[in-house]
Amino acid sequence: MRVRRTSIIRAAVLTSVLTGCATAVPPVPFAAPSASPTPVVDRLHFAVASDFHYGEPGTDYQAGFAQAVAGLNAADAADPLAFVALNGDISHGGVGLAQQAKVALAGLRPRLLVTPGNHDELTGAEWQQVWGAPADQVVRFGDRSVILASTSNAAGDYLCPNQQWLAEALAGEARQRDVFVIFHITVKKWTKHGIDCPQTRALLAGTSNVRAVFNGHDHDQVSVKDDDGVSYFFDGHVGGSWGAPERTYRDVLVTDAGLSTRLLTLDGRELARDVLTW
Ligand SMILES: [Zn+2]
Repeated sequence: MRVRRTSIIRAAVLTSVLTGCATAVPPVPFAAPSASPTPVVDRLHFAVASDFHYGEPGTDYQAGFAQAVAGLNAADAADPLAFVALNGDISHGGVGLAQQAKVALAGLRPRLLVTPGNHDELTGAEWQQVWGAPADQVVRFGDRSVILASTSNAAGDYLCPNQQWLAEALAGEARQRDVFVIFHITVKKWTKHGIDCPQTRALLAGTSNVRAVFNGHDHDQVSVKDDDGVSYFFDGHVGGSWGAPERTYRDVLVTDAGLSTRLLTLDGRELARDVLTW
């Protein structure tokens, strides 16, 4: 049984800005430069953004993409991002819109990692063709790993992550210091659009180096939920026709001290911050 101490601090700061925010939060070295050139990753800084919905009728998706690219590039300029994870529903149905969405993201400077959502509606082959990566993949950053898993298919079904693949992926990263798991549809019926995947939850809870899970899909969810010692973070939505009032994404910084994550608007206002230690 893993023992984890989790400390969560939530600061609903609706008016502060990215620089010079006035939160009563312990100092976390978001902008601290890495002093060591060694391949061990002293800090891992990344962003998770979900639900872009390029092409959804009745939405200003082109403006939304432009705002997202500008905001994420500004965040990268302030403190380089190892990657930006687009956590599903990047586009709103089929290969043509997916290709257009990719073009709309061409100006995004950080490395892109992607997961399928139920609205992308691509086959595995189409996903690979458009995004240049499999729908299920493991990416290492030094001694930390990111596991990205599919929770849908070309028909838009709501699916649990592939249990065998995920088990093998986690086993393959067992010697890594930290593992972060990213998939679109949450695996518990604790949101309106979540699904019940008890095997997935048990697998994640039983893997000692899994530090956090990041979900999209529920556009109205902007906080964190805990299941059996595992923290599942939500990041609202970048696009689409419904959800939380602000368009947001999640900034994540992992250091030896733990994980600190901020919910940010596309123009860099911090709405909340959570800190995990283990
Ligand atoms: Zn969506």
